[in-house]
Amino acid sequence: VPMGAKKPPWLRVGVPGGERYRTVSETLGREKLHTVCQEAHCPNVAECWGGGTATVMLMGDTCTRGCRFCNVKTAAAPPPLDPDEPRHLAEMVGRLGLEYLVVTSVDRDDLPDGGAGHFAEAIRHLRAIPGLLVEVLTPDFRGDAEAVRTIGRARPDVFANNLETVRRLTPVVRDARAGYDQTLGVLDRMKREFPSIFTKSSIMLGLGETPEEVEEAMRDLRAVGVEILTLGQYLRPSAWHLPVMEFVTPERFETFKGLGERLGFRYVASGPLVRSSYRAAELFLRGEIG
Ligand code: SF4
Ligand code: SF4
Repeated sequence: VPMGAKKPPWLRVGVPGGERYRTVSETLGREKLHTVCQEAHCPNVAECWGGGTATVMLMGDTCTRGCRFCNVKTAAAPPPLDPDEPRHLAEMVGRLGLEYLVVTSVDRDDLPDGGAGHFAEAIRHLRAIPGLLVEVLTPDFRGDAEAVRTIGRARPDVFANNLETVRRLTPVVRDARAGYDQTLGVLDRMKREFPSIFTKSSIMLGLGETPEEVEEAMRDLRAVGVEILTLGQYLRPSAWHLPVMEFVTPERFETFKGLGERLGFRYVASGPLVRSSYRAAELFLRGEIG
């Protein structure tokens, strides 16, 4: 699909509105808290903020990796961490009145623990906010067992690590320091050592994968006990990034949702606009999980 090509109708969305949405949006403006929702121009803000979900980023805006689908800045040595960031983040989030917060971060391969300690401290501060569920989408820490345990001990409600794509396309799509089996290993360790933490993963479609390969990836995730799966359409952030090979139809996304449920995932969000954190609160608030 060429850059700038007209998008199919199912990828166009309406203008945000609604009272809850306005409250979150006004508070965010005052607090100077940067959300991934705004920075990534995510099409789901109306639904997510309206439903009490938002996504924020920790450990700065510069990643040590350079995945070919991702729009984040890259440098070998990003600026040092701000030791006050975990506390400040929790103070700001506390004023937003959210029900569900997703915390994600760049990868910090430059730090001895990959940033696991900093991330864990943020989780501890956030867990002190009454009524807030915390999902973390952490780096893979290159599969380091101690870093994964550091996160697990801080007890997030949901732990996510994204597979991003099928096995065959992993070397093309993701940074060389990431890996298909490395991601499965991290998810496996978290589930085995901290069984009460829900595990979650996400796959982008439209990068040239076949339906059989998607099914294989879904089975591999179930084999390590992953409970929550999201599938969404890959969209190319710029000409440097990998091209979209296909706009997957809503019907095909529905088929994958059905397959995921048959494979035993407790919750599957599958659709063209679904992002890793899409309406993440919904599954808990509807009582489907938790
Ligand atoms: Fe924010 Fe994620 Fe929802 Fe997009 S899908 S609005 S990034 S919480
Ligand atoms: Fe983007 Fe994560 Fe890859 Fe860094 S590691 S480039 S933040 S996807």
